[in-house]
Amino acid sequence: MKLIIASNNKGKIREIKEMLDCHFDEVLSMREAGIELDVVEDGKTFLENARKKAHEVLALTEDAAILADDSGLEVDALGGEPGVYSARYAGDGHDDKANNKKLLSNLENVPDEKRTANFACAMVLSRHGKEDIDSVGRCYGVILRQPQGENGFGYDPLFYYPDFGVTFAQATPEQKNEVSHRRKALNGIKTALDSEK
Ligand code: IMP
Repeated sequence: MKLIIASNNKGKIREIKEMLDCHFDEVLSMREAGIELDVVEDGKTFLENARKKAHEVLALTEDAAILADDSGLEVDALGGEPGVYSARYAGDGHDDKANNKKLLSNLENVPDEKRTANFACAMVLSRHGKEDIDSVGRCYGVILRQPQGENGFGYDPLFYYPDFGVTFAQATPEQKNEVSHRRKALNGIKTALDSEK
């Protein structure tokens, strides 16, 4: 069976291909599969959004499995914000820089020991005639008071990862990919597929 990843993000697709290649005849991005679809992410949780994306793409195919994900940052002192609003925290049309600025401003009076946070990623694998496989991965860190590092994207420059002693934007992409929320969610999908063999 072929697997279509409900994304066109090259980094994500490469990582997923490496991990799941052995379970499918072919692994394709949406673009490679000739599918154009903009799913409205209006769920209250990452899992709801990932499930919605997976099901909408599955409905357009007859013989493929679909893997969809949704991810973001959850900050404890902000009751889990920005959460599902991570990409548009500073409003529609704003960029990573504006989102980071808003986060820093909202955490201005929060002391260092209360600046804990996690990245979360929900993944859903949907197939015709089979139960979905759901998986959620998290990685835990602390939000700094100013950005550090140039790698990565999104909130990486503010996300200090204690095991590395640097932010995700100072770590190499390979280091980050080994421990990331996405890698953990993907591991869960792989383990479930392995157990079906
Ligand atoms: P998406 O689910 O991959 O589209 O991510 C939604 C948003 O969450 C992104 O626009 C980022 O703001 C944030 N985000 C998700 N994963 C990461 C990460 O690994 N590093 C930094 N920010 C992330």
